Amino acid sequence: MINKGDYTYGDYTRLAVNENKSEYERFHETTHLVLTKATIWGFTLYYISRIAGSDNRLLLDILKILTDACEDVFESYATASTYFYAMLNDDQAEMVKIKNSMYHQVYNTEYFDLMESLSLEEIKKTSIHSRLPILALGTNIMEYSNVDDVQTYLLLEKHKRPDYRFKLLVSSLKTLMEEKSIESISNDELLEYSGLSSVPQNSDDILKHAATLREYMLDKYKNNENMRNRILSMQIVVGDDDLGKRVLDDYDQIALPLSETNEYTSEYPHQLLDWHLDLNVMLVVLDGVELGVDLIFIYMTEFKKRYGFHLDNSQTESLLSCFKNEIIFFKEDFEKAQLFKCLDDRRVFYCFSGKYSDFKIYLEGAVPKTRKAYLHQINISNYALFVKGSGNSIFFTPQLYTLIPRIHRDIESRYYTYIDCKSSDKDGVFYMNDTDWVKYADVLMAISKTNDNGGRIQFDGFLLDDDE
Ligand SMILES: [Zn+2]
Repeated sequence: MINKGDYTYGDYTRLAVNENKSEYERFHETTHLVLTKATIWGFTLYYISRIAGSDNRLLLDILKILTDACEDVFESYATASTYFYAMLNDDQAEMVKIKNSMYHQVYNTEYFDLMESLSLEEIKKTSIHSRLPILALGTNIMEYSNVDDVQTYLLLEKHKRPDYRFKLLVSSLKTLMEEKSIESISNDELLEYSGLSSVPQNSDDILKHAATLREYMLDKYKNNENMRNRILSMQIVVGDDDLGKRVLDDYDQIALPLSETNEYTSEYPHQLLDWHLDLNVMLVVLDGVELGVDLIFIYMTEFKKRYGFHLDNSQTESLLSCFKNEIIFFKEDFEKAQLFKCLDDRRVFYCFSGKYSDFKIYLEGAVPKTRKAYLHQINISNYALFVKGSGNSIFFTPQLYTLIPRIHRDIESRYYTYIDCKSSDKDGVFYMNDTDWVKYADVLMAISKTNDNGGRIQFDGFLLDDDE
């Protein structure tokens, strides 16, 4: 697909942490997530992408073929929905921009023009703009059991191709609209008029479909232990039927922020010099090169430079004790990092780069009692949640904005104690000095490679309890 953000059907969506992209771009990417989770075809792509990883060539090829067969549907829907969103905001400039964009010109223009001819009221009442793509994606490639030969199959069975179905559905709608009001046109009528059928796609159906896919793949890879483990370890969660709710609630498993490009210039000097020790952030990956050899990155955040070193692990402790500013490890190294005595009395960050639900599972072991937390906005799409661990350790996880409602609910249900920042620059938990916010900003800049830090999030009504 054409990159905007960059939605890949997998666990990651790249939503440009390195610049402040508009809310319309994030809206565009979100519509892709919606179709992925709400339709049989979309879910199939998601599933294959998850188990293909980056190394299963055959599955990646299949994924490419299936993706190409629905690109028109995904992009047309994203374009029209974003257009309506701009209309809702009465943002004329954005509406013009969308109409002039290549999205509008390359993909299904007939659909866009037809949708544009409707009033916002009609769109709200009928949801016709999403019903068409959902019907188009209501087709099951698994009904054809030999997934390997999917290309030939799709050539022969045009009616299974979402893009082709979409085209038919759009023309049918156009004709039907000449005869009757948009409110009275049902899905059955649209399908019948197009000579198509659609498989049912409520959340139970998608769960059943997920189970079928799983059985199929387990059987297909019965002699490949690595693939079997990947399939077995994958949890499937499908949201409830309300599409809007799914968007807000269910992205935990889909979306994690990744930086789109690495804006840092990296240098790999052979020798560590004294001035390196004054720079902002040090990221340490224990045994990151090979067993016994650690990988060290030192960030000069304001000039977006980072310096990489390999270090024999006998030297790491003395480097840590000389380094003046913030130190980050990945949470995988938590146990090993506890052995560095020189870190006992200083703040150390542990980055958790996985899914939000896994972060919570991890916290249950790592911070069993009162979890003091605060949320920090990186930019319009990305946030980081910081949680105080034992001693001076601080766990944090970068997450997409779609997770905010869940984090908010977790604060409400007291899973976290929210440390707010209304009265002062110091909160005695995260910010011990009034310039500490700079340190947090540095950590996020290093980890997310961004130069655009927003700030600390306030939540009304979730202040730190007095007795804590
Ligand atoms: Zn797109």
